[in-house]
Amino acid sequence: QATRSACKANTTCPYCGVGCGVIATVASGTISAVEGDRDHPANFGRLCVKGSALHETLGLHDRLTTPRVDGQAVDWNVALTTLAERLQTTRATYGAESVGAYLSGQLLTEDYYVANKLFKGFLGTPHLDTNSRLCMASAVAAYKRSLGADAVPCNYEDIEEAELVVLVGSNLAWNHPVLYQRLKVAKTRNPLMRVVVIDPRVTDSCEIADLYLGIAPGSDAVLFNGLLAWMAENNKLDQLYLDRHTQGFDEALLAASQHDINDVAAICDIDPERLETFYYWFASQLHVVTLYSQGVNQSTSGTDKCNAIINCHLAGGKIGLPGAGPFSITGQPNAMGGREVGGLANQLAAHMDYHTPGALDRVTRFWATETLTPELPQAPGYKAIELFGAVERGDIKALWIMATNPAVSLPDAARMRRALEKCPLVIVSECVSHTDLLAYADIILPATGWSEKDGTVTNSERRISRQRGLLPAPGQARHDWWIMCEAAKRLGFHEAFDYTYPHEIFDEHARLSAFENEGTSKRLFDISGLVGLGREGYDALAPIQWPVTSSAPHGTARLFEDGEFATPNGRANFIAITPRLPEQRLSDAYPLRLNTGRIRDQWHTMTRTARAPRLMNHRYEPFIELHPNDAANYGIGDQQLAVLSAASGEYRGRVRISNAQRRGEVFIPMHWSDAFSKSARSGAMLKALTDPVSGQPEAKHGAVALAPL
Ligand code: SF4
Repeated sequence: QATRSACKANTTCPYCGVGCGVIATVASGTISAVEGDRDHPANFGRLCVKGSALHETLGLHDRLTTPRVDGQAVDWNVALTTLAERLQTTRATYGAESVGAYLSGQLLTEDYYVANKLFKGFLGTPHLDTNSRLCMASAVAAYKRSLGADAVPCNYEDIEEAELVVLVGSNLAWNHPVLYQRLKVAKTRNPLMRVVVIDPRVTDSCEIADLYLGIAPGSDAVLFNGLLAWMAENNKLDQLYLDRHTQGFDEALLAASQHDINDVAAICDIDPERLETFYYWFASQLHVVTLYSQGVNQSTSGTDKCNAIINCHLAGGKIGLPGAGPFSITGQPNAMGGREVGGLANQLAAHMDYHTPGALDRVTRFWATETLTPELPQAPGYKAIELFGAVERGDIKALWIMATNPAVSLPDAARMRRALEKCPLVIVSECVSHTDLLAYADIILPATGWSEKDGTVTNSERRISRQRGLLPAPGQARHDWWIMCEAAKRLGFHEAFDYTYPHEIFDEHARLSAFENEGTSKRLFDISGLVGLGREGYDALAPIQWPVTSSAPHGTARLFEDGEFATPNGRANFIAITPRLPEQRLSDAYPLRLNTGRIRDQWHTMTRTARAPRLMNHRYEPFIELHPNDAANYGIGDQQLAVLSAASGEYRGRVRISNAQRRGEVFIPMHWSDAFSKSARSGAMLKALTDPVSGQPEAKHGAVALAPL
């Protein structure tokens, strides 16, 4: 039901991957209030402080409302014609692969679909990646290695039904607050439920922890390898499950048995008794959910860490059951929807990779691109950091960036900025007029934002929900899918981009998900049950979890319940893990370990959340969190200004002395950009080191020096 009354409409929150349903009150051309949607299965009426302030973040004063070319205001026809001519010239001069795109988990699935189709299918370049690479690429790569598909097995009810919930590298209380609230209530209702928090910092999530393990940064794989070995030694394996549904256990166990529990405790810097308590709790319960997020993913060994966690779940048969499974929690609202259409450079389309048997032929025929030159790319493109490296080298000559601000959010941001300066053609689609990125743009395209856009998003539990357009687009702002379609038409691709409303795009996306599915490979992502909704059905679409097929018309709450995985032979793969510690090493010059992350009331680079005064009250300025002993060693008092230095830049902030920090480690928030505070960009402090499998940057491990200001 799209509309509950004349002035209330349901939509979804645009911030985190929990994907809460929102009821917006629309009055006098604006949204005057928001409340949680009691019928939405993600939140059942709850909203966190960010979600409940959504209506306070709207307003037109700093919106982009006019297209600009080389600094001049122009109309859409001039902007799009110029864009098409320059893209065409670039392709003709330097080849199709001189063109790239960098997208965002803020885009709706329909926007993503059109982008993927345009760049890979019609422009013939594989170099399309997304800021979701910074978010959960490691979790994706690990699921694919182990389970055979980028498929989160669990759902939010599993968290409530678990007997043990393990939070690893996830400050759920701040970063996924509604999920944390659900966990907290479930724990109150079930006194037997236990919560373990594994994190270098004592976060607010520890409030409900029965056990806290203050792990040494980056040692997660050692800890979970140790757990696998401990389960084997203590006869806690589910042998029947191993025999029937998995392969590769012996190799994984051999790799995991390199250290005894005392060595593991020493490497992880955890008291051995507390570590063994965790091991015993995990091994003794069937209904265990391990929730993990950026603290695990943002690492040069993030994929291995995720697989070390999944290994333990497989070893105990703790997957595919109510209240059990390895559960990666997405940062962005539509990181998953983007991947569903192929929005990562290593994907082709609709969860198919380039090496998926028959995929290239299948997608070519579906998009009817047989006659195009060049044909569909035959191999993966550049992942995010590689993409900007290619810009720096001059291999990418035209880059279209949508709904994200890599000038702030990428590691080694100064280098990324130099790369953008050198790029002959930078196109930016953006909502607001004050992001750092706009200084590098040759063509600026004003895009619609939350409450104006219409489409779908997919949350962390595979649930597709509608985000609804409730307000008119300001000025000349247009939807991202429309902008790309109009550009495509000017590039000569008329018919393939002749959409009039997002339901047509969604329908095509749903059809591609099942196109020739009877082939040899197993494709778990199948939403053929949502084909043919029409505009009315699409507008009324209720939240639903994929796969949605004729045999599962109401969606699928939990995956792998039958022990059949998406690998060629149906068995889950154990992955032998040799743990690697963070690549960013400390030195005499940079002796402190830097950790970065979100704060409770801000979102990304604050373009929206900074508009609401009450969201600024929580932490209103950049800060440096520091252990009391370190503060004393450096002669720095609480609330004093200090500067962190790294090889790639500086960060200035006010010191917050806190026992939540481990000694020798500092924490800074990731949100501030030049638009809000000079010299407080966390991205400037990090080297662009990446996981070799997932390409995800190591954003949790910098090396810095500290000095008072
Ligand atoms: Fe929005 Fe996430 Fe808060 Fe839900 S938990 S209201 S999706 S920010």
